[in-house]
Amino acid sequence: MGVAASHPPRPPARAQGSRAPSAADNPAREQGAAAPLPRLCARKTKPTRPAGRARTTRRRRRRRRRRRPLSSAAAPRPAPATHTHTHKTNTGPAPTAARPPPPSRRVAGARRPVRITAATNNNNPAGGPADKYDYILVGGGTAACVLANRLTADGRKRVLVLEAGGPGGALETIPPAALVRTFLHPRLDWALYSSPQAALGPREVYLARGRTLGGSSATNATLYLRGSAADYDGWGLDGWRSGDVLPWFVAAENNAAFAEGPYHGKRGLMDVDSPRYQNPLFDDFYASARGAGLGPCDDFNDWSHTQDGFGEYQVTHRKGRRADAFQTYLKPVIGRENLKVVTGARATKIHWLKTRGGAAAGGGGSSGDSSSPSSSSSSSSSRPRAGGVEFAMSPDMRYTSSGGARPSTSFTAELAQGGEVIMCGGAVATPQLLMLSGVGAQAELRAAGVGAGGSASELAGVESPMVGKNLQDHPATLVASLFQERFRELCLTHGIYGRGTRVRLSAVAKLLLWGQGPLTTTGCDRGAFVRTTPDKAQPDLQIRFVAAYALDPDAIASYVRFGKLAAEGKAWPGGASLQLLASRPRSRGSVRLASGDPFAKPVVDLGYFTDAGGEDMATLVAGIRLARRVFERPELARYVESEGWPGASAQTTEELEAYVRRTACSGNAVVGSCRMGASASDSAVDAGDFALRGVDGVRVVDASLLPVLPGGQTGAAVVMAAERAAALLVDGTPLVSRGGGSGAGSSSASSSSREPALV
Ligand code: FAD
Repeated sequence: MGVAASHPPRPPARAQGSRAPSAADNPAREQGAAAPLPRLCARKTKPTRPAGRARTTRRRRRRRRRRRPLSSAAAPRPAPATHTHTHKTNTGPAPTAARPPPPSRRVAGARRPVRITAATNNNNPAGGPADKYDYILVGGGTAACVLANRLTADGRKRVLVLEAGGPGGALETIPPAALVRTFLHPRLDWALYSSPQAALGPREVYLARGRTLGGSSATNATLYLRGSAADYDGWGLDGWRSGDVLPWFVAAENNAAFAEGPYHGKRGLMDVDSPRYQNPLFDDFYASARGAGLGPCDDFNDWSHTQDGFGEYQVTHRKGRRADAFQTYLKPVIGRENLKVVTGARATKIHWLKTRGGAAAGGGGSSGDSSSPSSSSSSSSSRPRAGGVEFAMSPDMRYTSSGGARPSTSFTAELAQGGEVIMCGGAVATPQLLMLSGVGAQAELRAAGVGAGGSASELAGVESPMVGKNLQDHPATLVASLFQERFRELCLTHGIYGRGTRVRLSAVAKLLLWGQGPLTTTGCDRGAFVRTTPDKAQPDLQIRFVAAYALDPDAIASYVRFGKLAAEGKAWPGGASLQLLASRPRSRGSVRLASGDPFAKPVVDLGYFTDAGGEDMATLVAGIRLARRVFERPELARYVESEGWPGASAQTTEELEAYVRRTACSGNAVVGSCRMGASASDSAVDAGDFALRGVDGVRVVDASLLPVLPGGQTGAAVVMAAERAAALLVDGTPLVSRGGGSGAGSSSASSSSREPALV
């Protein structure tokens, strides 16, 4: 197993507070000596305060509590299912300056309550015939929240957000540890499964997808990782090299733990912090990882060095709570007069403007063209032009099998002249909706029945073969060790759960009073990036250490098992798990339509382990072997009773591969299904301006446009792309800087990108 040899130089100065591994970490352990066992006195000890974090005085805490209610009181509560929810604009005028000041934490409208009104089937929640929009955002998720904020800041443009799910700020989205409660949640999740994966049995894989304002940022694991400089340089796209994107990552960030510097910022809206929950097992993991041959990494987002090593992942939190895109970008500005947000609004199709003949312009089957941008600036009469978005109202619709329940009435939200639709539905819904609107591989669309029943004339009819192709995700597996009973109290699950499934009051109090404790973690915020063979140009494996025992390799099944144990009066057994993700997978999948029914589940083929060289599987098998070596180091081995997953019976490569095929789940990094690029032959979206090829008036700004997965999680890259799209649309900030951009990482000395001027 090859592990990167060179260790990174120190990152920019860290502000008080964060705890990260370093070479100085417990020298006794460094030499392999078993460190003394930590005391098991969880109930008697005070909550661990991260070393060096500034102590907050009681008075300051009280003052802060008075200022900021403990519950997210301003967050709208879901209305009864029979109603639609409209976050109606209701307050004073938006700022009118052509170029507003840089974003600040407090904005006009920030504290004003959001009015929720009920709409009836006869009442178009997008407004009457006079209500036309400069931008209609399809989906109210991560990218859409960024865009809604930025596009409405100067008050010149009217923006409509159509979100199929409910209002943001649901209780389950606030404590990071409640992440597991959002999986398959009837209001917050799409209950989406992949098509049966041939390489897995065949077996369907659950794909968690956020379904609320804030989208998947409200239900994700909150890790803040950008990938590496080499990832962006590897895209080979002008305007998207590491030197081009880095300033946007930095400008978007409001980092509570790291000082401002070349790799971190404090002036953006995206709250980033170091994880607050501490557990003695983290040091044991670091020591074991070191013993297994890995080096430390102080900051996975510092591009002056490679990503290799073990350490702490930063998280998108504010004071121990999830800081999703709804909370940070949309909620503070939801009162702007020029912004309308409609929840429970399921977009079903783009509405195309008609030509003289009555058919959608271009409906004869034009093809996506590479030369002209499809944005409003270069409208061509031969191309279909978006006129609006059709949608149906119901807060309860998730995917149905074809023919399932659906609302009887649909509405159209209309664009103003020169207006644009911005697709923000995420890597599954965006290609699905484009195909339902007639943009995609036409033969496949016809085979799926799109346009049947005489509706073909309403479709764009644009041949765009890359829509729905190039889907990527991290296949994931794990190794879990059961601890001896006497060490159970060390584990995260013991800190959270008392008897049964009841959350401990002490854990709740720590979160509410100090923003500390076990509820402030999604459980996987320590880990490592590793090259499983020395020839790898970049780490192909991501490890996430969880200070808890996985009852099942699948997170949902773990909870089902826990429920059964709890019903028998048993506690969650103690242990630790190492989640293993193929962080730069080679396999590619696709999103296709099962039918022309917009409410039917699309066919999501993850394509796991279909890469020709079998590298993704080799990565996970090597990961299992490495994880075992980590658990065998004395610092962790002293707790272990036995290996639960994969279990002692799986030893040979064949046995380990069989385990992976039986248990692999999604690493939740679905991207790439409308990839951007430089030419129509390899991309659905123009990397120069986010424009969907072959039509006018549609752009794509969400995870689907990332051409290749940046190693690590994907939320930060989506926010970066959305910030850039907004700057382009508001003040024409070009994506390609003079000189074509350059590298920002260790391999390149200078960056030619100009500083982003966030709108
Ligand atoms: P989303 O944020 O998913 O937004 C899409 C929105 O569109 C949703 O609100 C959806 O309801 C709405 N929508 C869909 N269809 C329609 C329709 N027809 N009409 C109207 N609205 C519609 N990233 C990280 O950076 N760190 C992590 O730790 C991490 N962990 C993850 C864990 C999980 C369980 C998941 C699901 C994701 C995770 N991610 C993580 C990935 C990250 O959250 C996503 O890449 C990112 O949020 C995607 O943003 P998006 O704007 O493309 O889509």
